[in-house]
Amino acid sequence: MWPAANALKQQIPLLDYLQSQDWKPARRISHGRLMGLCPLHPDHQPSFLVDPGKNLFYCYGCGRGGDVIRFVELYYDVRFGEAMALLRHGTPPGSLLKDVASFYQVQLHRHAEAVAYLQQRGIQQPQVIEELAIGYAPGGRCLRQWLTSLGYLLGDLQQAGLVNAAGYDTFSHRVVFPLGANLYGRSMGQAAPHRFLPGVKGGLYGWERVSTLREIVLVEGMFDLAVLWQAGFRNVTCALSNHLNALQLRQLCDGVTRRVYVAFDSDANGSGQQAAQRLSSYLSQRQLTAMCVELPDGFDPNSFFVSGGDANQFQRLLERARQ
Ligand SMILES: [Zn+2]
Repeated sequence: MWPAANALKQQIPLLDYLQSQDWKPARRISHGRLMGLCPLHPDHQPSFLVDPGKNLFYCYGCGRGGDVIRFVELYYDVRFGEAMALLRHGTPPGSLLKDVASFYQVQLHRHAEAVAYLQQRGIQQPQVIEELAIGYAPGGRCLRQWLTSLGYLLGDLQQAGLVNAAGYDTFSHRVVFPLGANLYGRSMGQAAPHRFLPGVKGGLYGWERVSTLREIVLVEGMFDLAVLWQAGFRNVTCALSNHLNALQLRQLCDGVTRRVYVAFDSDANGSGQQAAQRLSSYLSQRQLTAMCVELPDGFDPNSFFVSGGDANQFQRLLERARQ
């Protein structure tokens, strides 16, 4: 029924894929099957069964199972088609993302309108702009020209989602934040506000920096994180959404005792608040202390600072946060 899916499953055996994601079997059982920790949820005793012969998995903990495509759907929280694309192309190589980010970084300082946009969003400290490696995509074909001059093939740039069929930069007129395995572009104009490259969004932003801290603040967006950094709150991480993917949940529930302040947007329709509540009850069930930070109606951490809020006021919001 799905010849392309079947071909892909044969091309990328489940066990190979799991091992490329750092999964290690804890023990071998009958018929060549393997048991290990489940990568789909915080697991403390091996409940994840892999049958390399049948190319299938099943977890006795969370009750989920299937083939490699199903695994990718669950692991990255994507739909079937996206999971197929991910398996087919993988994520763009790190070296390519690095070259793109440095190109955008240089462009930022050449485009006064981009610097002005950052200022309008409350981001002005050169040190923070530098540390977050914030850049600007001026558009046109200059990204493609630069990357092909470095030796990249146009086809690879298109496959990575950086350049469209006509050779134009897909992030045109966006302020760009490099993430670990992706890019986030915020439109400065009429285009859809948020853009990522196809594929994985990755884990929580800068997780290595904060994972050992006893108290962390979790925000939805990179602009929230940037203003908090500027205000001196360095224990911040960002999910790039108010819906955490499986990898991000695993990071938060890694067994370390910590208090998580969830500072999502205070949306008019209550969606940010509901997401924060859902997440905090999920975390509380897993022995973490989760606190919901209540921002004034209609504000997110970014607009809170842009409209004159300061570090002391934000600190008071943290102190007033409720479990
Ligand atoms: Zn499981």
